[in-house]
Amino acid sequence: MRVILLGAPGAGKGTQAKFIMEQFGIPQISTGDMLRAAVKAGSPLGLKVKDIMSSGGLVSDDIIIALVKERIEQPDCANGFLFDGFPRTIPQAEAMVSAQVDIDYVLEIDVADEEIVARLSGRRVHEASGRVYHTIYNPPKVEGKDDETGDSLVQRPDDQEETVRKRLGLYHDQTKPLVGFYAARQGSTAVKCYKIPGVGSVEEIRQRVLDVLK
Ligand code: ADP
Ligand code: ADP
Ligand code: ADP
Repeated sequence: MRVILLGAPGAGKGTQAKFIMEQFGIPQISTGDMLRAAVKAGSPLGLKVKDIMSSGGLVSDDIIIALVKERIEQPDCANGFLFDGFPRTIPQAEAMVSAQVDIDYVLEIDVADEEIVARLSGRRVHEASGRVYHTIYNPPKVEGKDDETGDSLVQRPDDQEETVRKRLGLYHDQTKPLVGFYAARQGSTAVKCYKIPGVGSVEEIRQRVLDVLK
């Protein structure tokens, strides 16, 4: 099963991805997590993308497409995968069509912009695993610590309000058009598209996601 999670930054893609990967036994492919790991390691890729990421811009399609194509060749992707934060532009989606990577489900998690700003200002992450928390909406058991490892949680540098507004603008301009792109492929390909209302408890959204992935 090949699934794409679409949605604004902060819509809850990473949070729901953790459930979907466990439930269906498919790996989460988060281009954001992959890029952050490269930045942290100081690899050539990381050095290339560091500044654009911290400013809230989008990394070039060429870089992203190469990264994803290499990732989906790995053996753990044989039975499918979950794209989280990819594709983010029409050229990225077209690259998957050209590579004959057929998608089964496109789930758009829908959350209004003002809610997004509140969510991202309270977001805290466990860097090593990508697990996500929120200071108020989804707090860890011990303040500031990851539930499973006890490691300290961090705030992402691109989660400050001004950068969030820029990322939201890019979402509306560059990523939202993918909803129409995939909707237009329904019928002629196997893809099925669903819009999931993204406001409610993490559990409620999880149930909505599970209801459509059958
Ligand atoms: P969020 O879902 O909070 O917006 P991500 O972790 O998906 O954040 O992405 C963080 C940053 O990584 C983006 O702002 C962008 O700079 C870069 N990035 C991640 N995925 C892509 C992609 N598919 N195309 C271009 N840039 C990307
Ligand atoms: P994305 O991957 O789409 O950028 P995340 O999964 O990282 O989004 O979620 C963004 C923030 O919102 C995190 O702090 C997360 O804990 C919180 N969050 C996720 N789902 C919900 C929800 N249903 N209600 C409130 N906050 C949520
Ligand atoms: P819809 O959900 O109606 O298909 P959008 O998701 O593009 O359309 O728009 C949802 C909301 O986001 C609208 O209320 C609009 O004001 C706002 N919006 C649209 N484009 C942008 C943008 N480029 N930057 C910031 N906000 C935007």
